[in-house]
Amino acid sequence: MGKIWEILHRPETVVFFDIDGTLTSYNYGEYHAHHELDYTPEFRDVNIYADCKRLKPLYDYIQNHDINRIFCISREPHGHEAWKSYMVEKLYGIPVSHCFYTPDASKKPQIVLDKVTELFPDIDPKSVVLMDDNDDTLGLYMRETPFCTAHPMIFMENM
Ligand SMILES: [Mg+2]
Repeated sequence: MGKIWEILHRPETVVFFDIDGTLTSYNYGEYHAHHELDYTPEFRDVNIYADCKRLKPLYDYIQNHDINRIFCISREPHGHEAWKSYMVEKLYGIPVSHCFYTPDASKKPQIVLDKVTELFPDIDPKSVVLMDDNDDTLGLYMRETPFCTAHPMIFMENM
């Protein structure tokens, strides 16, 4: 039996949430999961986050956790950072200043390592959980950080 669910509910635990596919359902298009304009230059001007809905199990979890210990880290190569941060604050109450972005997902482990060192220098690494829906990113996190990892489906099996 994994320990992640119990760790997530300890008050001292710090969580870094991915955004697309973790705090959103990743259904941006009309007939596709990707927005129809994805992979085109026009995509930069589309706010795909305007209609995102709150995911209740994640919302409930975040409401019951210390918001000073909740962060977002997201790959963002399309210039959508401001729209994405606005959505995360509006739907989940996560401050814009808690959202970090990189155009390159392979940089996520180093960004998290730097932030944890800066903000929680004495924390037990097993009190940090990195949640992401991307298998490659979860693997990178496991290899390149001492922290716990979790897939967002954990909230579905514990509803
Ligand atoms: Mg994702």
